[in-house]
Amino acid sequence: MSYTIVAHQAVLPGHEQPVGATITVAGGKIASVVEGVSSSVPNAVVIPAGRVLLPGLIDSHVHLNQPGRTAWEGFASGTAAAVAGGVTTLIDMPLNSIPPTTTVANLGEKRAAALSTGIRTDVGFWGGIIPGNAGDLKPLLEAGAKGFKCFLIESGVDEFPCVDGLDLITACDALEGTNALVMFHAELDQNPATHTHDHPESYSTFLASRPPSLELDALALILSLARRCPALRFHIVHLSAADALPLIRAARAGTDGGAPVQNLTVETCFHYLTLSSEAIPDNATSYKCCPPIRSEANRRLLRAAVADGTIDYVVSDHSPCTPELKKGDFMSAWGGVSGLGFGLPLLWTEFGADIPLPRIVHWLSSAQAGQVGLAGRKGSIVPGADADFAVFDPAASVEITRDDLLFRNKQSAYIGKTLKGRVEKTYLRGEVVWDASDATGSLAAPTKGQLL
Ligand SMILES: [Zn+2]
Repeated sequence: MSYTIVAHQAVLPGHEQPVGATITVAGGKIASVVEGVSSSVPNAVVIPAGRVLLPGLIDSHVHLNQPGRTAWEGFASGTAAAVAGGVTTLIDMPLNSIPPTTTVANLGEKRAAALSTGIRTDVGFWGGIIPGNAGDLKPLLEAGAKGFKCFLIESGVDEFPCVDGLDLITACDALEGTNALVMFHAELDQNPATHTHDHPESYSTFLASRPPSLELDALALILSLARRCPALRFHIVHLSAADALPLIRAARAGTDGGAPVQNLTVETCFHYLTLSSEAIPDNATSYKCCPPIRSEANRRLLRAAVADGTIDYVVSDHSPCTPELKKGDFMSAWGGVSGLGFGLPLLWTEFGADIPLPRIVHWLSSAQAGQVGLAGRKGSIVPGADADFAVFDPAASVEITRDDLLFRNKQSAYIGKTLKGRVEKTYLRGEVVWDASDATGSLAAPTKGQLL
């Protein structure tokens, strides 16, 4: 199947603002991209003025939890929520499913579960580093894992224990000769007994139990590894503590007394950029995640660090659970914010007044493609890439209701918020896989996603 898309506004590489484009699609790939709007193409799919054609978005930090904890989330519901938000590529975290993605056999179980369930986006998998699995890491990489995640603090699930400095040196040595990405849940608690648990209904109690010092101590360990192993790549997932930002800048510049660190990337999440601790009501556990959502002043510093490039990109860290596990107070409830598919309107609402749409889209697409080995195939409207697109109405205003949540458990800190911008259509490999004007029909259609 081949056809032409004529877009009055499209987000193309190298442009600070959307530009007109004429794009041909053949065999599920982008065959050509010509700047300018051609009026002479018969039967073209026209993206009208006022709508913007974007590359399909990437969310490289999601927990789909299948098999094993499919009651928390699953491939069907998770990928449906993604595609409704213009996300066409998901990379699944190695934990919360059972088994975790820590061996090649376990990766095979995850893949089999995805294929037997059906996926509406393309899906790839991170592997995990746990104590004792160093020998599994290179085989996982060769089997297609996109990199490895580890925890420096207890993960919350027994089958994915955290690692210490010695485990990490063993793991990095096992990855020698590769340029693998090693990712950290970057909280390191050296004095866990000192935190008070009085008033667990109050968000401030939970916040005090996960202070910025946990993230700073983790950062020191990560920087020492990054300098020890310059051929590997290191990545901090879901940075929350703005106190880490000057240290990251100094390490990259080599002004902290060590060699310049060039192999460290950083992500943050939609919730750290759009929510603040001061506004979280008692027992509002839909806001609980680790590291925690911090103060408004912290949020503003994170926001500036995304804008100036200190933070490389932004992800959902969609990490849901059953309603039963979200009940109770801040100290007992499961930690995780559900927001898969809401990233673009959240960031457009937050940044749209002062940052052009193509830069925001970059954080949600091309900035992540290279990280997972998919540059040139995903995340950019360029010849040779998969024909994955989202059609975005930047002027729409939408209140998020419970009914809008397509993920399995209908709880989210974003319910009731009014956001700017709405994805109207999503294309995967040249085919429409989401049409907001026919959600029921879209969800009843056969799944088209593939494994990456
Ligand atoms: Zn996570």
